[in-house]
Amino acid sequence: MVTMTSVNKHYGALHVLRDVNLTIGAGEVVVVIGPSGSGKSTLCRTINRLETIDTGTITLDGKPLPAEGKALANLRSEVGMVFQSFNLFAHKTILENVTLGPIKVRKLKREAAEKEAIALLERVGVATQKDKYPAQLSGGQQQRVAIARALAMKPKVILFDEPTSALDPEMVNEVLEVMTSLAKEGMTMVVVTHEMGFARKAADRVVFMADGQIVEEAEPNAFFTNPSSERARDFLSKIL
Ligand code: ADP
Ligand code: MG
Repeated sequence: MVTMTSVNKHYGALHVLRDVNLTIGAGEVVVVIGPSGSGKSTLCRTINRLETIDTGTITLDGKPLPAEGKALANLRSEVGMVFQSFNLFAHKTILENVTLGPIKVRKLKREAAEKEAIALLERVGVATQKDKYPAQLSGGQQQRVAIARALAMKPKVILFDEPTSALDPEMVNEVLEVMTSLAKEGMTMVVVTHEMGFARKAADRVVFMADGQIVEEAEPNAFFTNPSSERARDFLSKIL
């Protein structure tokens, strides 16, 4: 579904992605871990072209990422993104947050968009909150709305960038449970997270990044029980 081939990116003198090669199959769940500053967010952001790359190629569903115009807008709808900070529209209701994209981009009629949105809000357990504004919801509820909003675009892949890092601890599980059920249903997902329980349970593959490079990729059980690189062993010893 996604291929990254020899991808390099700099921020000025900082070489933030170093010859990254990554293939994500349809229905695969890839968890990306690594120290702060290793390039995890940048990697995610290149996949929906929130960031451009200097060299290399990225394809989605076999096609190179478009650079601009309508094709780029379409790409953004095909690659969902869920951020640490929820990023809901503060002045729109929960229902409007979920229907906006489908009405504007997928050209659904309001009635059809609302019907779909309510079904998605039910799926993530927040349908009763549909007429409230984001600030009236808990962090865990807001993040579940953000997931419903991403799903409403019928994306080919969803990128999650530390989706539970800003949550109070008691709300982490309700979000991870929604993500785990999406994973089981076959959604293609890239998840940057420090939640190793989720990685063990839901990931098909763990990608360990350090200093802008993919240092190691493995199936979760192998990675956690026997990481092959010193960097990964060191990282795991600090977080587990
Ligand atoms: P991670 O998500 O793994 O913590 P990031 O991808 O956010 O890492 O950042 C990788 C490196 O790139 C860091 O050193 C960070 O400071 C730098 N960086 C990220 N975004 C920018 C930017 N817009 N301009 C300049 N440097 C950036
Ligand atoms: Mg980050």
